[in-house]
Amino acid sequence: MSATETLTPTTVSHWINGNPVAATSGRSGIVSNPATGDVIAEVGFAAADDVNAAVAAATAASIEWRSTPLSRRAEVMFNLRDLIVKNRARLAEIISRENGKTIADALGEVARGLENVEFACGIPNLLKGGYTEQASRGVDVYQIRQPLGVVAGITPFNFPAMVPLWMLSTAIACGNAFILKPSEKVPSAAVFLAEMAKEAGVPDGVLNLIHGDKVAVDLLLTHPGIKAISFVGSTPVARYIYETATRSGKRVQALGGAKNHMLVLPDADIAMAADAAVSAGYGAAGERCMAISVVLAVGNVADPLIAAIRERVARIKVGPGSEPASEMGPLITREHRDRVAAHLNYAISEGATLSIDGRLDPATQTAGFFLGPSLIDNAKPGMRCYDTEIFGPVLSVVRVDTYAEALRLINENAYGNGTAIFTQNGGAARQFQFDVEVGMVGINVPIPVPVSYYSFGGWKSSLFGDLHMYGPEGVQFYTRSKVVTSRWPDPASSKVDLGFPQVR
Ligand code: NAD
Repeated sequence: MSATETLTPTTVSHWINGNPVAATSGRSGIVSNPATGDVIAEVGFAAADDVNAAVAAATAASIEWRSTPLSRRAEVMFNLRDLIVKNRARLAEIISRENGKTIADALGEVARGLENVEFACGIPNLLKGGYTEQASRGVDVYQIRQPLGVVAGITPFNFPAMVPLWMLSTAIACGNAFILKPSEKVPSAAVFLAEMAKEAGVPDGVLNLIHGDKVAVDLLLTHPGIKAISFVGSTPVARYIYETATRSGKRVQALGGAKNHMLVLPDADIAMAADAAVSAGYGAAGERCMAISVVLAVGNVADPLIAAIRERVARIKVGPGSEPASEMGPLITREHRDRVAAHLNYAISEGATLSIDGRLDPATQTAGFFLGPSLIDNAKPGMRCYDTEIFGPVLSVVRVDTYAEALRLINENAYGNGTAIFTQNGGAARQFQFDVEVGMVGINVPIPVPVSYYSFGGWKSSLFGDLHMYGPEGVQFYTRSKVVTSRWPDPASSKVDLGFPQVR
C-alpha cells in the first residue's frame, strides 16, 4: 500500500522492521480528538518483547545501512522530502486531529520539519572530515565521522511530526538505525512518517516505532543495544532521561521545558510588539516550547501594550483545528485544560490581575478541551503563574522599571530556552544578545526557532546534555569521530624506537 492510500488506523500499531506490528503487552492507551473529546484510536503500549524486537531489527539493519553509499542515503532523504511535500495536507490533518492545533499551524509544523529532511539531503557534505598532509615526515592525519549504531528518540505531544523529523532525518542520514517512541497522545503522525520513509527507500529495520509510556521509555534508556538517546519533553522527565541513560553509558541530549520571556523596551513599536506577543503567546494554544509566556514591560510601556494586546485577543477565533476560520484550537487533554485554567484562580488569589479570562470564551461550552486566551497583569516572581511552565494560552505581564531588572529576571529564571527583545535601538538589542543567559534569542522575532542549518537547544533546565538538536550539532551527536594517523614508509627504513612519537 502506498503512503498516500493509508488511512488512520483505529488501533495504532508499532512499526518494526518495516511493517506494522501489533502490541502484545496487553497494555494500551487511548487517543482523543481534543476538539470533540471523542476517543478516536487505541494505541498498544510496548513491553520488553516489543522493544527487544525493535532493537534486534535495528541492529541487523544498521550493519548494511552504515555501508550504504552516501549518495544513496542522500537519495533516500530526497525521496522522503518529496513524499512529505506530496502528502503534507494529509500529515497536517493527522496532526490536527490528535493534537488539536489548527490545520494552518500543522502545515507550518510540517514545513519546519521538512527543513530538517532537506538539511539531511546534504549528508555527503556534512560528513566530510578533515585531512592533514605531512603532520610529521611522511605522516598524514585525517578525521572521519562514523554512525553510532542504534539510536533512539522520545518525543512530546506538541509537535507530532516536527520533533520526530528533527531527530530521525539526521540520525538516519548519518548511517544509524533509529527507534522512535512518539508521544502516546499523538501516535499516528509518526506511523505515517514511517510509512513514507519505507516508500522513500529507508530499508526495513532502519526506522522503527514503538509506542508506549514510561515502561517503554525505561526499557530504551537501559537497553544495552542502544547507543544514544534524544529526548524532547518536560524538564522533570528530561532530567530523569539524562540521568538514567547516561548511567547506562549512553550519549544523551534531553531538551526540557521553558518559560520564555519577551522584553519590551519603551521605544518599541507598540503595535508590532502586541502582534508578536499575541501570536507567540496564543499560537498553538500556548503549547509550544518556544511560546512566549511572560511579557516584561519596561517603564511606561505596560498600559498601551496591554491595551493593544486586549484589542487583538478579542478578535481571536477559538474553535476546532479542522475549521478554516479557527485561529486557536483546544488543549491536548481535559486534565491539562483544567490544570491550565486553575492557574487563573491561583493568579487572582496571589494578587495578580486577571485582565482577560479565557474561561468565558464560547468555545469552552463545547465538549472539546478548549480554553480561550487569558491575560494576567501585575504578575511577579513567586506567583505560580510566573514560576510554572503553564503550557497553555495564558500570557502574564510583569511590569518592571528598567532593562537591568528585566534582564535579571530572565537570567535568574530556571529555564533558558527562548527569549525575545522588542526595541528600535540596535545597541540595546546587541547588549541583550550579549547579556542574556538563554539558548535561542529573538531580536524583534518572538519565536526564534533556528533554521535547520543551525541547531536548536536551550540553556539551564531547558537542556540536559552537551549538544543541541539537529543541524551541525545533530550531526555531531549522531556520529563519533575517528582520527587516523597513517604513513607508508619504505620497510627498509624501519627500526625499533622506544621513544614517544614526535612530530618535528
Ligand atoms: P512529557 O515530558 O510529559 O512527555 C514527553 C515524552 O516522555 C513522551 O513520549 C512521554 O511518553 C514520555 N514520558 C512522560 N513521562 C515519562 C516518565 N515519567 N518517564 C519516562 N518517560 C516519560 O512532555 P509532553 O507533555 O509530551 O510535552 C510538553 C513538554 O515538552 C513541555 O514541557 C514543553 O516545554 C516540552 N517541549 C520542549 C521542547 C524543547 O525543544 N525544549 C520542544 C517541545 C516540547
